[in-house]
Amino acid sequence: AKQGAEVDGVAFYSEDMNAGMHERMRIESGLREALGSGQLLLHYQPKFSIDEGRIIGAEALVRWKHPEHGLIPPGDFIPLAEATGLVVQVGEWVLEAVCAQAQAWKRAGLAPIRLAVNVSAREFTATLPHRVQDTLRRYDLEPAWLELEITESTLMHNIDRVIAIMDRVSALGVTLSLDDFGTGYSSLSYLKRFPIDTLKIDRSFTTGIPSDTNDCAIASTIISIANQLALRVIAEGVETTEQLAFLQRSGCNEVQGYLFSRPLPPLDFERTLREKGWAVSTARSGGGE
Ligand code: C2E
Ligand code: MG
Ligand code: MG
Ligand code: MG
Repeated sequence: AKQGAEVDGVAFYSEDMNAGMHERMRIESGLREALGSGQLLLHYQPKFSIDEGRIIGAEALVRWKHPEHGLIPPGDFIPLAEATGLVVQVGEWVLEAVCAQAQAWKRAGLAPIRLAVNVSAREFTATLPHRVQDTLRRYDLEPAWLELEITESTLMHNIDRVIAIMDRVSALGVTLSLDDFGTGYSSLSYLKRFPIDTLKIDRSFTTGIPSDTNDCAIASTIISIANQLALRVIAEGVETTEQLAFLQRSGCNEVQGYLFSRPLPPLDFERTLREKGWAVSTARSGGGE
């Protein structure tokens, strides 16, 4: 907030910039260390299929277990990691950890469940498809275990290049979904060119359901576009039974949010799945943990 206030002149301005820079460098070196010393971990948030009435997948969400500051949410370090490029290493760690987890669940006798990994624009390079293929092979996993979530903004950089990468990932049999849909600037005409399976309605729209008529209109429009393009559609941030009812009525296929479960540590997630016998009724109400 102090930045740009010119009253105290250059000295004040640069002092403030310095503080920001030192803070960023501190977080960056801390994150480097975190990567090397096992301070990153993943929580898994169930995705429920309204159609099938059961958990059909989970989103892996990274956390940083900081020795002094405790559990740091991704919003506090992913943007910086994206700015510095360190997100590439974070992403490599996440893919590896998710596949190791999938292999453990597979060996424990669980049926394949799609584990979704968030992929930043900077990770979305020509080497990604091979890395995905190689990791699946090393962990002896069918592609049905893996989903990649990419944000609309990733698509803005170089459409033809991005589509070529998506095609290669999709050809592996790995599912692709468009995260935070509706918040970016992508032209609807591109939707038919992307080899994506799922549109993910951003939480900012879900939040306004059912009281905000604009949010309701946007959500149901996204659902109808998805239905007509034969894409699946999931709403994120579902917290109330009213939101669930609206989404269900509108033809939404899947939901994810605190109404069903918060993101859970792996053991809690596994316990939840076992307790529900893999068949959680979407009629279930009530909060997270
Ligand atoms: P996202 O991919 O859109 O993930 C959804 C976020 O919404 C998660 O926050 C999740 O915990 C939260 N959420 C889910 N249901 C509800 C709900 O009912 N109510 C509310 N208020 N929030 C809900 P989280 O875990 O803090 O992650 C934030 C963002 O950080 C993610 O947004 C994603 O963009 C990014 N992120 C997380 N993990 C990774 C990762 O491994 N790699 C990359 N590149 N980004 C990640
Ligand atoms: Mg996501
Ligand atoms: Mg999202
Ligand atoms: Mg979001």
